[in-house]
Amino acid sequence: MSKGKKARAPKPAEPPLVVTQSNGRSWDDEADVVIVGFGGAGACAALEARAHRADVLVLDRFHGGGATAISGGVLYAGGGTHIQKEAGVEDDPEAMFRYLSQEVKGVVSEDTLRDFCNKSVENLGWLEQHGVPFEGSLCPYKTSYPTDDYYLYYSGNEGFAPYKDVAKPAPRGHRAKGTGLPGANFYEPLRKAAHRAGARVEYEARVTRLVIDSKNQVLGVEYRQIEGLWSKLHRKLHEAGIAVVKYNPKLAAKLRERCFRIEADHSAVKRVRARNGVILAAGGFIYNREMVKEIAPQYRTGMPLGTASDNGSGILLGQSVGGKTDLMSRISAWRFINPPEAFAKGMIINQKGERYINEFMYGAAVGEAMVEQNDGVALLIIDADLRKLAREQCKPGKAQWFQRAPALLNLWFNSKEAKSLEELAKIIEVPIETLRKTFDEYNDAADGKIADRFGKDRAKMHAMREGPYFVIDAGIRSKRFPCPTLTLGGLVVDERTGQVKREDGGVIPGLYAAGRNAVGVCSRQYVSGLSIADCVYSGRRAGGAAARGEVYATHAAPTPTQGTPIQARLPLEGLPTIRERQVADPSPEAHATTVRRARNGSAYPRQPLHRSIRRPGGASRTSQQGRGGLSKRSR
Ligand SMILES: Cc1cc2nc3c(=O)[nH]c(=O)nc-3n(C[C@H](O)[C@H](O)[C@H](O)COP(=O)(O)OP(=O)(O)OC[C@H]3O[C@@H](n4cnc5c(N)ncnc54)[C@H](O)[C@@H]3O)c2cc1C
Repeated sequence: MSKGKKARAPKPAEPPLVVTQSNGRSWDDEADVVIVGFGGAGACAALEARAHRADVLVLDRFHGGGATAISGGVLYAGGGTHIQKEAGVEDDPEAMFRYLSQEVKGVVSEDTLRDFCNKSVENLGWLEQHGVPFEGSLCPYKTSYPTDDYYLYYSGNEGFAPYKDVAKPAPRGHRAKGTGLPGANFYEPLRKAAHRAGARVEYEARVTRLVIDSKNQVLGVEYRQIEGLWSKLHRKLHEAGIAVVKYNPKLAAKLRERCFRIEADHSAVKRVRARNGVILAAGGFIYNREMVKEIAPQYRTGMPLGTASDNGSGILLGQSVGGKTDLMSRISAWRFINPPEAFAKGMIINQKGERYINEFMYGAAVGEAMVEQNDGVALLIIDADLRKLAREQCKPGKAQWFQRAPALLNLWFNSKEAKSLEELAKIIEVPIETLRKTFDEYNDAADGKIADRFGKDRAKMHAMREGPYFVIDAGIRSKRFPCPTLTLGGLVVDERTGQVKREDGGVIPGLYAAGRNAVGVCSRQYVSGLSIADCVYSGRRAGGAAARGEVYATHAAPTPTQGTPIQARLPLEGLPTIRERQVADPSPEAHATTVRRARNGSAYPRQPLHRSIRRPGGASRTSQQGRGGLSKRSR
């Protein structure tokens, strides 16, 4: 391995390789369905495609698993799963649909959301058949994540107004059985099942570009696979990076660099033909900090939650052939403050000194209100009683260590004490009149004199009439209380097949997307379990459709609730030969732009690839949202 210069992150995607002749001699491999990424969505797509007897090849940049394998392993499922029944919970698909309609706010069509809810029981059973363990032990209290005693819990906002007014609340967070964050217990059975089912998997194989014909039909992919023993070293370094990132991000960054170096120096280029289609299932883009800065700058100070491969490559590959994206600025910021429950019994205020949310709401709802409406500010205020209670609730066995540790660290190192309201107002630099009004209102609601205007349950409120008070900086810029963030937007897909759509509404033949590469049920709002549930739903959908070679050319095709008969199978143009001299590169400027930016240290082409290739002089941004920077907080 060459030493010295810092290894730069590889470009997440290259412009597509356009092939013009057909005879099929120069592909290294071929399969009916080629899947890019072997995380949650990729594994589900592989299993479903194999169930349809397709020959499946999966390519993964690392060793599979992705964010799914390090996740909390929570699946949002309902409508009367046998796990809910075992726990004595009543639920039906209609209640699930009504609740989720409030959360997802039209991000997918009503038909698709209904289909998602109707298939929830079946999808849970399907996961169990493949070995994913669940258990009907119901958590009796509201928490952001239960202890190892419980595996079914209220993982969203079901019990709060206004949600509880439209749908009977039911716990739908089905956590895979296992201690701590059991994402691996969710993922590993799927990996094994996919291998058992006959899916071929190539690890340490990074897909760099799509291969298309002159009509923009996707024919296959080009990838770089690490050779020999280097692949083992690459895997070990990647695993070590994931293990240390929470405690030593700098070391994790160094390990990532070593991985990049191995990828650059020890990979062989290969091309694989996809007879029916390519499924993009390569995760989100939270680790592509250039992209985050550009698309959702208000979240740039959040802590990236995921793995190094969340660099947007799947989305950019889709864009490189004209795929449309949406909701790219939707980032889920997890401002979890409960446990300890004592924190949520206090209040969160903004820089004006006003409360803005029921502090018991799900962490992503708190995070959204914090970033989108309150300039990223969240000042958590408790009094001496709540502080004492918080310490009590942070004792071993009362919460997970990853919940107790940050809470205690915040109490010790990230809280400021004020003897009186006046002193508190000075410390946090908010007008005393507003702060007094906020406290008066809160205390009156806690004493039952008035209803809380955010619908907080009186039993969960605690009047704070006397100092000392303690304030914790829980905002998105807080260095001592980092706010985890992950991306939700992606490629727009046909909701019946998962086929990637173009700007004009048509589909790109031969290209599908799933999981966090695609806009899905969780792309507007995340509640715990909804991303993984969407990976299962969208992964199975894309796997089945690609295996069948299903292509809907018009908007008039049937909706999921009416069934999804195969309408047409696109004729494929033989097997093209790829030689470099045949590669059509309509716009050398596109490369110049990318290379120039890469030299400046950015791995993210400022123009979406397909734009820069097809319309070099044209409009440069697909995302209109989230420009202006953040104003600095005064304190
Ligand atoms: C700590 C943590 C806890 C979480 N807890 C939950 C939870 O409990 N419930 C929930 O619903 N969500 C949770 N999430 C979010 C959820 O895990 C992810 O949104 C989801 O798993 C993404 O799945 P995916 O299949 O889209 O991508 P991933 O699972 O990340 O898989 C993508 C795969 O693609 C591969 N890849 C990337 N680029 C390439 C390329 N160019 N070529 C080949 N392969 C490539 C990667 O190596 C990776 O294996 C959590 C996330 C984290 C980080």
